[in-house]
Amino acid sequence: MHRMSFALINPATEERIAELEEAGVEQTDEAVARARAAFEGWRNVAPTDRARLLRRLATLVEEHLEELARIESQNVGKPIGGARAEVGMVAQVFHFYAGAVDKHYGETIPVGGGVDLTFREPLGVVGLIVPWNFPLNIASWKLGPALACGNTVVLKPAELTPLSALRLAELILDAGIPEGVVNVVVGPGRIVGQRLVEHPDVAKIGFTGSTEVGRGVMAGAAATIKRVTLELGGKSANVVFADADLEQAAAAAPYAVFDNAGQDCCARSRILVERSAYDRFGQLLIDATRNVKVGDPQDEATEMGPLISAQHRETVASFVNGEPLFRGETPLGKGFWFPCTLVEASNDDRIAREEVFGPVAALIPFADEADAIRIANDTPYGLSGSIWTENGARALRVARALDAGVLSVNSNSSVRPSTPFGGVKQSGFGRELGMHALDGYSEVKNVFVAT
Ligand code: NAD
Repeated sequence: MHRMSFALINPATEERIAELEEAGVEQTDEAVARARAAFEGWRNVAPTDRARLLRRLATLVEEHLEELARIESQNVGKPIGGARAEVGMVAQVFHFYAGAVDKHYGETIPVGGGVDLTFREPLGVVGLIVPWNFPLNIASWKLGPALACGNTVVLKPAELTPLSALRLAELILDAGIPEGVVNVVVGPGRIVGQRLVEHPDVAKIGFTGSTEVGRGVMAGAAATIKRVTLELGGKSANVVFADADLEQAAAAAPYAVFDNAGQDCCARSRILVERSAYDRFGQLLIDATRNVKVGDPQDEATEMGPLISAQHRETVASFVNGEPLFRGETPLGKGFWFPCTLVEASNDDRIAREEVFGPVAALIPFADEADAIRIANDTPYGLSGSIWTENGARALRVARALDAGVLSVNSNSSVRPSTPFGGVKQSGFGRELGMHALDGYSEVKNVFVAT
């Protein structure tokens, strides 16, 4: 069968960087068959050996950090410094799950008439579907726990950004992980992704992407009662109280939105500010946003690169109507650039309700703590968020009241290899990272032995 080829573009230069053949249903089925054939072998590898192989993979990622960071930077348009940090996290994630292999075990439960045991069994073949914004990072969040639990994998990267996953697949073999344990299939979501969702031999789908596609994945998985983990969109709040260290909050706020050019599910794109501090914070925020260095991703000083594609830039632009509070500068000429943009809004405006996935933040005033909580929760999403206050009791009170899976106080940070990550409401369900992710890639089996 003739296979279509497609070109990959560097979003900063609009140059072609690679040409690949597109896989279809047939290649997806072959990959599932290979993963299925490898499953019995992989699940029976002694835990210490599985841990050793994952540790070797982590070390290989460290040794190839610069190469992987360059690939990611060129393919996604990420600033090279940020790309290095992301690849560094990939290595940490594999180290973490290497350490977790022999620390995730069953129990004995007191019962009458015998002994009762639980086992943590792998699920089988898992389909991992990944978006284009953090291609290697998000792949590792799924691969780590999936492999640690003894599953085999078919990984489907986003069509726009498959290069780092393809290189990782080579490193996985170099690490000594047997052939067939991890299979990468590059092709369109509606063909390859959908086939994985429907395939009777795929036990679970670990999906990260938009809420819209996630809804279809969940519906499609129903036919075979597949397990799903859904990491979807967000519209997170950055809640700034008047009693916060306003300088610190304002200095951090741009990076909570403009990092990865706003193409971040955790972007705190609604900046809620207590009315009594609104004018002062607004001025500090404009000053901090003006300092964000936008430009060539290969330049070590660059903090923000272009958007992923011309089409995506059009979508982002459609959110900004009228004169914004602040609009930054971008390089001229080639590249899918979009400036850092701040707009004043009400929480009912489209800009405050829908995920922009670009460097656009909405500033929204609030009256008091109760009003802040009401506005922050008035969204169909519930992924992340930040709370800025010097009042420790208030920080905990508000953290408990917010509908979100991942919060930070006086910080923007959302992800660490050892801590659980995921959403509530229409941001999805299931947890990645930390020991919690292992629950999503294993099943508890109970065995009663009559004595
Ligand atoms: P997307 O939903 O368009 O695509 C995600 C993946 O799903 C891609 O690999 C795509 O090919 C595949 N896909 C598309 N159609 C499919 C189908 N019918 N069946 C199965 N798979 C299909 O998302 P995107 O544009 O690549 O990424 C941006 C979105 O991802 C944003 O909404 C963002 O918030 C979200 N995201 C969420 C998290 C999180 O952890 N919550 C992290 C990063 C990105």
